[in-house]
Amino acid sequence: IPAIELKGVVKEFTAHGEIVQAVKGVDLTIAQGEFFSLLGPSGCGKTTNMRMIAGFEEPTRGEVFLYGENVTGVPANKRDVNMVFQSYALFPHMSVHENVAFGLKRKGVEKNEIKKRVGEMLEIVGLTGREKRRPREMSGGQQQRVALARALVNRPRALLLDEPLGALDLKLRQAMQSELKRVQREVGITFVYVTHDQSEALTMSDRIAVMYDGAIEQLGTPREIYEAPASKFVAGFIGTSNLLSGNVTGVTDGVATLAFGDDGLIEVPLRDVSVGEGATLELTVRPEKIDLTKTKVDNCSSVRGTVTEVVYLGTFTNYSVVTAKGEEVVVFVQNANNPDDLAARGDEVWLSWEQRHSY
Ligand code: ADP
Ligand code: MG
Repeated sequence: IPAIELKGVVKEFTAHGEIVQAVKGVDLTIAQGEFFSLLGPSGCGKTTNMRMIAGFEEPTRGEVFLYGENVTGVPANKRDVNMVFQSYALFPHMSVHENVAFGLKRKGVEKNEIKKRVGEMLEIVGLTGREKRRPREMSGGQQQRVALARALVNRPRALLLDEPLGALDLKLRQAMQSELKRVQREVGITFVYVTHDQSEALTMSDRIAVMYDGAIEQLGTPREIYEAPASKFVAGFIGTSNLLSGNVTGVTDGVATLAFGDDGLIEVPLRDVSVGEGATLELTVRPEKIDLTKTKVDNCSSVRGTVTEVVYLGTFTNYSVVTAKGEEVVVFVQNANNPDDLAARGDEVWLSWEQRHSY
C-alpha cells in the first residue's frame, strides 16, 4: 500500500470575499520509503498540498489517504506524520537533547528508551557530543539537524519537509542536501520535500511532482522530467532550455515539418494534434544536446546561426548563438571532447541535434 495518496484534492480559500483555488484537483500516490518532492514556483500550492497531508488544512473537495486509510477530517495530531519547517521552531530554552526528547517524553516513553533513541537519532544527524548545547549556540545547519532529529525520533510514517534549507547559504544547503538524502536512506521513512529550487529537487528525489498554478504539470523521476519535459513550463523551470520557433509547413501522420527561415526543414512529432499548416511551433532543446559545427550535419535537425559569445568554464564552454530569425540559443560543449574552441565570436555555425532531443 502507498504511504500517501491524494485523490482529486481541491483547496479553496476565501480572501477578501473572493474564492482562491490554491490546489486545483491533485491526484498523487507516494510509495513507502520514497523521497518525493513537490517542486514549483512560489504560490503554486506546494505548502497547501503539504498542509493537507499533515492535517493542518482540510481539502475543500477530495480525499487524503495515509497507508491506505482515509484520513480526511482526521486532526493533525492523530496522523502519523511529522513536519519540518524552514524556521526550525526549536525550543530556545531547551538543550539539544531536551528538544529531541520532547515528543517522546510527552508520549510517556520510558527514560532509558528515550536516552537510547535520542542518542541514535543524534548520531544519524551527526550531532553526537552536542547534547547539552542550546539552539542559539549552534549554526543554522546544526539547528536544522536538531529539528530533523526531533521530527524523526518518534518514527513517523512520513516526514514532510517544507523548504527546510531555505534559510541556509548555498554551500551549507548543498551539504545538507546530501545529508538529508543519507538520513532518509538510513531511517527508511517516506520523505515529502517541498522546494522551489530545481537543482535541489533533482539532487535528492526519487520522484518529483512539478506544480504550476495549483496543479501537477508533470510527475516523474528527475531524469524523466529533465530529459522529456511535458510542457514549456517544465522545460523552462528545470534546467536551461532553448526555445526555437518554426513555421509549420506541413503535417503528415502527426509529424510536422518546421521551417526556420531558409535554414532547412525540421521534422517533429506533434504533441498537440490541433496544430496545422501555417502555425508557429515552439521547440525546446537542451543546451548540451546541441552539436556546434562549421558545416551542416546530415540527418539531424539543424539551424544556422552566428556566434555572439564564447565563455570558457573549465568543464564546459558555453556558446551563445543567434539564429537568422534572431533567436538566441545556448550550447554547452564539454571540453573533455573538445579541448580547443570550436568557434569564435562572429563565426557562422550550424547547430544540430537529434530529433528525439527536441520536444
Ligand atoms: P507555495 O507553497 O507553493 O508557495 P501556497 O500553498 O503557500 O504556495 O499558496 C498557494 C496559493 O494559495 C497562493 O496564491 C496563496 O496566496 C494562497 N493561500 C495559501 N494559504 C492561504 C490562506 N490561508 N488564505 C488565503 N489564501 C491562501
Ligand atoms: Mg510554500
